Amino acid sequence: MTLKGIIGHKGIEYLPVYVLFKQPIEDFGTFTTVNQELFKLSKAIAKSIKQVEYIESIARTKLSAEKSAIFEAHVEIVKDSVVHDEYRKYLVENKVSAAAAVKKVSGQHIKMFKDMDDEYLSERASDIEDVSDRIIRNALGLHHPTLSEVNHECILVAKDLFPSETPFINSSYIKGIITEEGGLTSHVAIVAKSLNIPILLGVENILEKVQQDQLIIMNSIDGEVIIEPTEKEILGFEKKQKFHREEISSTQKYLYKKSITKDGVEVALECNIGGAKDADEVLDVNADGIGLFRSEFLYIDSQDWPSLEQQKKQYVEVLTKLNPKPVVVRTLDIGGDKQLPYYEFEKEMNPFLGKRAIRLCMSEPHIFETQIKALLLANKHGNLWIMIPMITTLHELQWAKKEIKKHRKSLEAEGHKIKNYKFGIMMETPGAFLNRKLLAEECDFFSIGTNDLIQYTFAADRTNAEVNYLGSPFNYGFLNMLKQIIRCGVDYNIPIAMCGIMASKRENVRLLLGLGLKHFSIPPIDILKIKKFISELDYNEAKKFANKALLIHDDEEIKKFIEENNCV
Ligand code: PEP
Ligand code: MG
Repeated sequence: MTLKGIIGHKGIEYLPVYVLFKQPIEDFGTFTTVNQELFKLSKAIAKSIKQVEYIESIARTKLSAEKSAIFEAHVEIVKDSVVHDEYRKYLVENKVSAAAAVKKVSGQHIKMFKDMDDEYLSERASDIEDVSDRIIRNALGLHHPTLSEVNHECILVAKDLFPSETPFINSSYIKGIITEEGGLTSHVAIVAKSLNIPILLGVENILEKVQQDQLIIMNSIDGEVIIEPTEKEILGFEKKQKFHREEISSTQKYLYKKSITKDGVEVALECNIGGAKDADEVLDVNADGIGLFRSEFLYIDSQDWPSLEQQKKQYVEVLTKLNPKPVVVRTLDIGGDKQLPYYEFEKEMNPFLGKRAIRLCMSEPHIFETQIKALLLANKHGNLWIMIPMITTLHELQWAKKEIKKHRKSLEAEGHKIKNYKFGIMMETPGAFLNRKLLAEECDFFSIGTNDLIQYTFAADRTNAEVNYLGSPFNYGFLNMLKQIIRCGVDYNIPIAMCGIMASKRENVRLLLGLGLKHFSIPPIDILKIKKFISELDYNEAKKFANKALLIHDDEEIKKFIEENNCV
């Protein structure tokens, strides 16, 4: 049986399950007298304060300052005399047991936090739940199950883990964590990642489906759990684990190294991301920045046009986390195959050739205005690079540039201090290629979007498998096109990056480097792998290699040449 979950931290293990079972509280005790219940409440609070302070001291020795800060917050919550007074007031007025009073009052606080739009704040409801659950159990004299009892290698399975349980996670024994609840920003997900423990979240009903000590495969690389695996699945697991471990150990040593070829040429390795939630992954692999923030996901994941404030919050998060490294935010790239549930696109015969990206923004300038203002206001550290998608002509570029300047002026007139930003475009249409010199004069950078540049150059829909054979970058004309774009960057002294899929394939790196590409924007997961490969390459040799490839005319021959000559 295979269950699906949300990937919190990647890894793969085949081990017995350790079910952390927390007796649900159904009976909150009966009311005796007001004085007796108040006495019980005071005792439970005092005991809880001691326990939480103890947990905080453990956390401080075991976790980083940042991760243990949460337990200082727990100490504050458990000691909050205003909340204690609310418990007492409720108890006295309603004549209920100490545990029932805590349950009722904390329930209201938890709901209030959970209802908050801000994901971070709503996750903090779990801190209040954690602390109040402790007071309730202490008031009822119940046992707190603890992870310090785990003494063998296992995969921990739980409904959810309270933050106060996480300092007791011993990574020598707990090799994987699966929860039924919890999101990517939950405390357990953050701690598991920092301890390098694979974690899968939101695996529905797993507690009903596994038993204590049952062997399961937890695969948080592909986001699945296999219960009662077959022989074949176990063999598959062994292969995958071996590959995963080898890859991690061989690339991990590159984490803090510069990305540099054997003959000393530096190559910037940046990441492609789809939202603020991905920024941590970029930091985890120590990339040189973000080369493509696909801002359209902010719009796709929303119920309505995201407001200036909603957008600003996400941009601030990414720009602040990455500061001082650059963050290239691509303005809205919607249309083509990307639709929005709240916007009626006009029916078009050829949507990919229609009102997509900058064209849509030009016809609906208020949409562009909101995004640009959100970006400019979020640029508190000056590391914002604005990138316009689907540019084909100088006119479109100048429109975007003028609009941005206008919005900057109007924000400044309102009294906002706006930091400088870089301005660039996606090089992803043949029109942009033909106009590259005019465009380069007006830009601080280009980023080559090979996914679209191939589709538009060969008139081959990138979503249509029937014409996939035309979607290969190994074509005489296309490789020469790349060479000329990169050459244009040298002539006009602007950096040229590549953020299409072509840049993330290991087998293309030597060729691209040889064509002169020095900025790669790729998924975070590929950064260390590509950095390792670059460190094994010689720039001058790669140039000779690319020159040879450019002499071949037949697509298949080029592909064969690149594949056969790919070992370093
Ligand atoms: C591209 O076209 O290569 C690109 C990176 O953009 P997208 O895939 O989002 O269209
Ligand atoms: Mg594109």
